[in-house]
Amino acid sequence: MIKQKLKHDVAQAAVMLWKKGLSIGRDAGDTSFRDPKDQLIYICPRPTDTMIIKNWGAMKGEHMVVITLKGEIVDGGDILPTLEAPMHLSIYRARPEINAIVHTHAVWSTIFAITGKNIPLIDAEMDAFLGGEVICAEYAEVGTEELGQNVVAALGKNKFAAIIQNHGAVCVGTDFDNAFNASDFLEKSAQTVVFGNLMGGVIARDKIEYTPKR
Ligand SMILES: [Zn+2]
Repeated sequence: MIKQKLKHDVAQAAVMLWKKGLSIGRDAGDTSFRDPKDQLIYICPRPTDTMIIKNWGAMKGEHMVVITLKGEIVDGGDILPTLEAPMHLSIYRARPEINAIVHTHAVWSTIFAITGKNIPLIDAEMDAFLGGEVICAEYAEVGTEELGQNVVAALGKNKFAAIIQNHGAVCVGTDFDNAFNASDFLEKSAQTVVFGNLMGGVIARDKIEYTPKR
């Protein structure tokens, strides 16, 4: 059953993506949510001649598309799902506990994307909210199944963020609060590591325990 509230929630997440500066301009990054009850995916639209996207800040529930885990459109009229739908679907298939995805083109994490580097574990917040070191996924073309598989490999079984090489980043959570929380800490981690390296090099650790766990 299509739930208008979930279409509204995903649109609001897209607005948040834009307000936080995680997606500048038009169609950079996107958001989606899985209804755990029936496994339907509520996801941002793809810009076309008839679906003009000024920016994600202008998104409303009526612009969202609903698809199955196989990518079949079940609600959306003439509107198509974002080009990155295969990546979102790959993550949902691989991680049953994940119900919200925030795919960003944010500046600090993109520095790691364009240099193909992992973000090393440097503080307890990364352990708690990102699942430790953040892995840079191998390069693949935008919108492909291969990109989805590479991101799933970088996320592994228990990470909440991954860098997408020459592209951006993806953060995941049980809900949008957790996915945006991961995104906030991802940007903070990326920024502090960039400056730490300018100061002479960060002290990376294999393990930094954080209690309590979330
Ligand atoms: Zn993207």
